[in-house]
Amino acid sequence: MELIGHNKQTEIFLKAIKNEHIHSSYMFVGQSGVGKRLFALKIAQMLNCSEEIYKRPCGICPSCKKIEMGNHPDVMTISVLEDKSWISIEQVKDMIKGLQMNTIMNGYNVRIINDAQFIKEEAANSLLKILEEPPKNTVIILITPSPHSLPRTIISRCVTVYFGVLSDTEIKSKIEKYGLEKDELDFVVSVAMGSLGKAIQWAEDKKLIDEYKNVFTDFKKGKFVNSKYERNEAVEFLNLLASQVRCYEPEKLGMVLKMRNYIMRNTNIGLTLEVLRQNLT
Ligand SMILES: [Zn+2]
Repeated sequence: MELIGHNKQTEIFLKAIKNEHIHSSYMFVGQSGVGKRLFALKIAQMLNCSEEIYKRPCGICPSCKKIEMGNHPDVMTISVLEDKSWISIEQVKDMIKGLQMNTIMNGYNVRIINDAQFIKEEAANSLLKILEEPPKNTVIILITPSPHSLPRTIISRCVTVYFGVLSDTEIKSKIEKYGLEKDELDFVVSVAMGSLGKAIQWAEDKKLIDEYKNVFTDFKKGKFVNSKYERNEAVEFLNLLASQVRCYEPEKLGMVLKMRNYIMRNTNIGLTLEVLRQNLT
């Protein structure tokens, strides 16, 4: 497990572990793809690693290894299940079961909740109880891009840690191993806009790059205008277009974002894309 960036956050946690000032609940806030989930696992390793504090996480002790493999008995992650839209109360109950008991490997019980904004009221109440009276040696980490959709009572119990986007150089260094041509590499960095997750997704799929590499010029020529996009796909497409417009004709960026907002507000997708195309050419 390799993580880049987020040095400030690492320092905060190392200091807290050293001073034994670890809180029982944290909320990691930041856009998706910036590495919050990996960072939460890194914290689980730092808490449970058998090395001296300043060497944590060592990455090679049994604890670190088990966490990386996803089979550490004291570390558990829950997310929205594939066929569901919400995190269920059963998942939360299952997650907090056993927290009152001692840890199996003699370290910290760590529970990570991905996309915590999808916890519904009933499940949130169940979670709140454990946040209010956290058992010893327990750390619960909620991960979300939008904390305000969570109940205030939960937010107020957590220490919030913000995650910014990664720099272009950091992103570049991570995807160089995919052996992309220079123009492809530049393109991927530009569309990723600080999200490593997104950059990797693009770097792994050359077909996507070929299709969209010249998205700005292709769009002006009429390509993509008649694509049968769902609304969220159209928004995603305009984000992509915006990342290129920002590089080549920044004065037109406002127009792209304006049209993207129209589409978000329910305008006809094909028509809006055509109006945009005419405005860009
Ligand atoms: Zn270790």
